[in-house]
Amino acid sequence: MTVKEYVSSRKEFIKNLVSQLDFEPCLAIVQVNDDPASDAYVRGKLKDSAEVGIKALHIKLDPSITEQQLLEKIDQLNNDDSVHGLIVQMPLPKQISEDKIKLAVSPKKDVDGFHPLSSFIACTPKGILNYLKSEKVEFVSKNAVVVGRSNIVGRPMAKLLLDESANVTVIHSKTSQEDKIKYLSNADIVVVAVGRKWFLDHTYNLKKDAVLVDVGINRVDGKLYGDIEPNMDVKLQTPVPGGVGLLTRLALLENLIEAATKK
Ligand code: NDP
Repeated sequence: MTVKEYVSSRKEFIKNLVSQLDFEPCLAIVQVNDDPASDAYVRGKLKDSAEVGIKALHIKLDPSITEQQLLEKIDQLNNDDSVHGLIVQMPLPKQISEDKIKLAVSPKKDVDGFHPLSSFIACTPKGILNYLKSEKVEFVSKNAVVVGRSNIVGRPMAKLLLDESANVTVIHSKTSQEDKIKYLSNADIVVVAVGRKWFLDHTYNLKKDAVLVDVGINRVDGKLYGDIEPNMDVKLQTPVPGGVGLLTRLALLENLIEAATKK
């Protein structure tokens, strides 16, 4: 199944599940910027929520507010029982500490999975793992390489793959080119989250039955590119656009439903 087909069938499932609840699951999205990319991400989340019957509150605050004012707003939403999930759209204005805000969201409502004690798995790795499982990708004893070690993608992705009993290697900017070539040529599963157009291209000698997951979103001259060159000679490759972005959005809905229905 393509990512698009998978996401649309999962959304149907969620919509059906929501229709059977005797309350309205509610997601609060706090935005404290006038950034056009953030506007687009929030629009996507509002549209996804509406599609499946989740009530989404878009709380757009003046970017000149103080950190204390934002903390107070988060505290109010943390204590509002009608709000099941709470996310704060990044980036934040420079007078506000992103780390402090991430820690202020209640771990029980942190459906982005950014809090170290969050009850939820970060959306991008969760979406990826579930899709690969739906494609019957095998993990046990397979060699998985994660390129990138960020807190929101690379690290949680490596942990999930390890939990599935894959042999996991994490590559980053300090890994030598020689080692990158060595690890990648031996990989059964590769997840690339670097943020560089076509970081992984046909010059690498990959296994023909490898599975490639492209997390990257790179805008170059107004066009969108992934971190992996399209149409590599492998078994499965997620496209950009129409790949991990959709899986991430789906995982947010899944986390929200989990938050709303968990006892
Ligand atoms: P970060 O910038 O936080 O992390 C990038 C990682 O790539 C770092 O760990 C860095 O290593 C590593 N890196 C940089 N250059 C190289 C290199 N030459 N060789 C090997 N590793 C390298 O990015 P994110 O993880 O937040 O995002 C990565 C990409 O994924 C971006 O394009 C982002 O837009 C996209 N993204 C897409 C999402 C989606 O829903 N599709 C969701 C989240 C992100 P080091 O730690 O050593 O600096």
